[in-house]
Amino acid sequence: MTVERTVRAAVLVKPRTIELREFPRPAIGPDAALLRIEACGICGSDYEQYEGATPPHEDYTPYPVIPGHEPLGLIEEIGARARQRWGVREGDRVAVRSGYGCGRCAACGRFETRACRSRGGTYGYTDVSKPPQLWGGYAEHMYLCPHSVLKKMDPQIPAGVAVMFNPLAAGLSWAGTVPATGPDDRVVILGAGQRGLCCVIAARAAGARQIVITGLSRDSHKLALARELGADVTINAETEDVVARVREATGGGAEVVVDTTPYAPQSLGHAVAIAVRKGRIVVAGLKGQRPARELPVDDMIYKELTIRGVLSMPVDDTFRAVDLIESGRHPLEKLHTHAFPIEQAEDAIHALAGAVPGLNPVHIAIVPGAPPVSLGGQAG
Ligand SMILES: [Zn+2]
Ligand SMILES: [Zn+2]
Repeated sequence: MTVERTVRAAVLVKPRTIELREFPRPAIGPDAALLRIEACGICGSDYEQYEGATPPHEDYTPYPVIPGHEPLGLIEEIGARARQRWGVREGDRVAVRSGYGCGRCAACGRFETRACRSRGGTYGYTDVSKPPQLWGGYAEHMYLCPHSVLKKMDPQIPAGVAVMFNPLAAGLSWAGTVPATGPDDRVVILGAGQRGLCCVIAARAAGARQIVITGLSRDSHKLALARELGADVTINAETEDVVARVREATGGGAEVVVDTTPYAPQSLGHAVAIAVRKGRIVVAGLKGQRPARELPVDDMIYKELTIRGVLSMPVDDTFRAVDLIESGRHPLEKLHTHAFPIEQAEDAIHALAGAVPGLNPVHIAIVPGAPPVSLGGQAG
């Protein structure tokens, strides 16, 4: 087998500027590994990162970085101690968590990175000048540092489906474990992006009594998909009065409301209006630093609402997501719509943002070596 001496990767050098660069293939020590990227999922965070709109965060470097925080790949090279610690070897497929441990706390000292409280950094948001440079998933290879958290996954599953472990973990967390969704709950999901749709799957898996999801006019195919995945009612937030329609459909409101809508500060007001007494609201969709105005504070108090912001998800939800994908119980292949090669990382981000006419993606992944996607109005 020939071993490439260089690794090609896309580097975000400043907001809205991605360049393709080559890096030396790093030497791998006994505690680390080198991942051959099969696919790297992209999400709204990639778009914010690209725009330079990511809020300041202690372990995020804005740029220059190799983006890509949802990597899936094959272990190509691994040190002896890492092999033992992670229980994986060369050739295994693994799903990798975005955050890696700090390497300095007691938990990391014992290589129990899952218990690290002060994570060391995040793949896709680590300074590209830090050796060995390959800290992101928009690349042919990614470095797996000793404090990575990963889980083995069945290699038979198509990569485009397997790589959905990240949005699915978010759904399991936000529409399942965080609001403790159960059979008595009516669940309303605001927003029909990949995470909203994964919330439908999660609410269904949690046995929710009723599931309602909202979307925009251009989301009609996603709302149809939501019904296939288990939503009972879909609402067009542009042409219908969301609060009135939800109240009517649910017979008064919902126990659980999950807000996944990006750049829509009014949605929290909707969530408060929709929630019933003692309701649980999970806020996940970032608003581009725009404040929510005219929040009905008295309603929050009278209804005794729980409002919980979520950024990522606990590691157990990632592991459950991998199990759920392996179970084959949900038609996840219908969510994965596009694979872009590394060279088209910027196109992929524009497509995700809905800025490429004719392309209506749900889930997009960067796939090294994928055929180019035509932007001439046809979906690739
Ligand atoms: Zn993401
Ligand atoms: Zn640590």
